[in-house]
Amino acid sequence: MSTHSTTAAPGSPAAPSTLITGIGSLVTNDTAHGTGPLGLLTDAAVVIDAGTVVWVGPAGAAPAADERFDAGGRALLPGFVDSHAHLVFAGDRTAEFNARMSGQAYSAGGIRTTVAATRAATDAELDANLARFVREALHQGTTTVECKSGYGLTVKDEARALRIAAGHTPETTYLGAHVVAPEFADDPAGYVDLVTGEMLDACAPFARWVDVFCENGAFDGDQARAVLTAGVARGLTPRVHANQLSYGPGVQLAVELGAASADHCTHLTDEDVAALAGSATVATLLPGAEFSTRAAYPDARRLLAAGATVALSTDCNPGSSFTSSMAFCIAVAVREMGMTPDEAVHAATAGGARALRRPDVGLIAPGARADLLLLDAPSHVHLAYRPGVPLTAAVWRAGVREL
Ligand SMILES: [Zn+2]
Repeated sequence: MSTHSTTAAPGSPAAPSTLITGIGSLVTNDTAHGTGPLGLLTDAAVVIDAGTVVWVGPAGAAPAADERFDAGGRALLPGFVDSHAHLVFAGDRTAEFNARMSGQAYSAGGIRTTVAATRAATDAELDANLARFVREALHQGTTTVECKSGYGLTVKDEARALRIAAGHTPETTYLGAHVVAPEFADDPAGYVDLVTGEMLDACAPFARWVDVFCENGAFDGDQARAVLTAGVARGLTPRVHANQLSYGPGVQLAVELGAASADHCTHLTDEDVAALAGSATVATLLPGAEFSTRAAYPDARRLLAAGATVALSTDCNPGSSFTSSMAFCIAVAVREMGMTPDEAVHAATAGGARALRRPDVGLIAPGARADLLLLDAPSHVHLAYRPGVPLTAAVWRAGVREL
């Protein structure tokens, strides 16, 4: 647990074992123990102990535990794994959103507005803002959240962002290569030197991942390769903002470098789709971005048909996708991107876990972290069927009842 957590948990970290029974529909994402790709069980029970799932099966066969929680016939699923978010920032971009919804086009340059506000904020302000969004997400069932830097763009401000993020999640991503810092507008090569040199040195101790926005107006393929390979040399694992606004080299680069994930994947050639399908690189789709920029959605059906692993995430950031709601992303993915409700829920849980290479989350099976979302609904399908409706009945994170 983070020492920065603002959560007042009803339980304590040393809580006794708990039997959750009366689960009408259980999404395990464990195909060995349930039906279909979601590993569905009906009339099920789960036992959690010391922060871990220790037993899953039919309610009638459940072992005893210290405490008992009756799910009342509702649906239980793994907590959402939001594998792509930008949560260390200050200010907002309401005016930019309003202008865009009034006809202006989105460009990567708007990021600089948030950079100015973030640099001007105190550590305490950034930390409190991040804590607020982690809690906002938790209230909507998200128990794992990735967090990128990228609104500092100086050595000091990028390292500060990652140090603050590391107090809230182990999934921290160095994104010094979000856009070229304004001070280097006339010297992008000099900025890449900084990102791959002194800035990387300062940030690597606080980061697990290295990322780059490979896009027109941000970084081209050669620059992106330099950023990612420098990060790998420092022990970070790559993930890539790829093919969001246009076709480009991002996806192929991600696959070539063994990135955990290629994120956005909105403009894909057949070769891009085939490369993802033939690799361990997850295609992470971020429909909040297309929603909030009034752009065409990525084609999830095409990726799934080819055999690619798909994740859904929020891309929560103040510019292009200011939502922390995984349920919203599921609903949009089902309505607009060709995903079935089962596929979308899988992508928002097991898919996100794959994108973060976390075998301990995104599933409910013995040995998994006890990250659980109880819905105020009899089925996970309601996440798409009842768009915009708050359906969170209870959340456990690492076995602790958070709400
Ligand atoms: Zn992003």
